[in-house]
Amino acid sequence: RAKHEGRGVVRFFTPAMDQQLRDRRALERDLRSAVANGELFVEYQPQRHSDGEIIGFEALVRWHHPQRGIVPPAEFIPIAEESDLIIGIGEWVLRQACREAASWDDTLQVAVNVSAIQFRRGDLQQMVRTVLQETGIPPARLELEITEGVLIENLARAASMLNSLKILGIRIALDDFGTGYSSLSYLQSLPLDRIKIDRSFVASLGRTDRSLAIVRAVIGLAHGLGLPVLAEGVETKEQLRALIREGCDEMQGYLIGRPHPIEAYAEVVGSDQRRQKMLVRNSAL
Ligand code: C2E
Ligand code: MG
Ligand code: MG
Ligand code: MG
Repeated sequence: RAKHEGRGVVRFFTPAMDQQLRDRRALERDLRSAVANGELFVEYQPQRHSDGEIIGFEALVRWHHPQRGIVPPAEFIPIAEESDLIIGIGEWVLRQACREAASWDDTLQVAVNVSAIQFRRGDLQQMVRTVLQETGIPPARLELEITEGVLIENLARAASMLNSLKILGIRIALDDFGTGYSSLSYLQSLPLDRIKIDRSFVASLGRTDRSLAIVRAVIGLAHGLGLPVLAEGVETKEQLRALIREGCDEMQGYLIGRPHPIEAYAEVVGSDQRRQKMLVRNSAL
């Protein structure tokens, strides 16, 4: 609430907002040294095929702040994006994820989120190429997740950036599909390898007919374009069953596995044979 302080001066910031701003600045300052201090780490969340087989993991960054404890990415990624710190952080996450994935069973892929800010810079392809060379991971095992936000700004530029990335042999997934503001026309012109349907649609599956209609339409649209669909945020067996019934290709969510340091999934990444056990456990659902 704006307060009048005499002489026509209006204070637009309440003490609470002021505190928020200071908090943000403090976080940004701490984030500046977080990579160098080894405070960032990556957790991995499994992705499964509808038949139960684990096909890969999504890398999700976490920040262990020395005083605040774990700060979730929803809090610090926006700050990193506003301050350009996302460039260094994004590169660090990619390198870490590829390094780790290089030691997994070679049929497993790793998916890494890429911010629109990284995209806007011209040297993303060079950075990805360097990390691929350094870590020796086959490019086909790497998937970059982009959001529709990347596409709104400049579709032509986004398309040429995506094409240059595709030349490296990596895969591209469209994340959080259905929550952005883009027109659907880009779907036919961009080199996408899969669509991730946003977890908000999955969450209300079984509760509203509308969410089922949306999920069905997205799957139909994607399949019409020859693209597989992965459903995010699958938490219940009912959701899993409904998705399989609708022909959804792949699933990710707490039901299949939460994000954890990769050690928690040592059995799964170890070999095909052990992964078979996970498959059996999953299909028992
Ligand atoms: P996202 O890429 O859509 O990642 C999925 C988010 O949903 C993750 O949250 C994950 O923990 C959460 N999730 C997975 N399954 C379930 C479920 O069954 N139920 C619910 N309620 N949530 C589930 P997280 O790790 O907090 O990340 C949030 C967002 O932060 C990500 O959304 C992504 O946009 C961003 N992010 C995370 N890591 C990175 C990164 O390395 N770089 C960039 N640029 N962004 C990242
Ligand atoms: Mg193998
Ligand atoms: Mg993602
Ligand atoms: Mg998502």
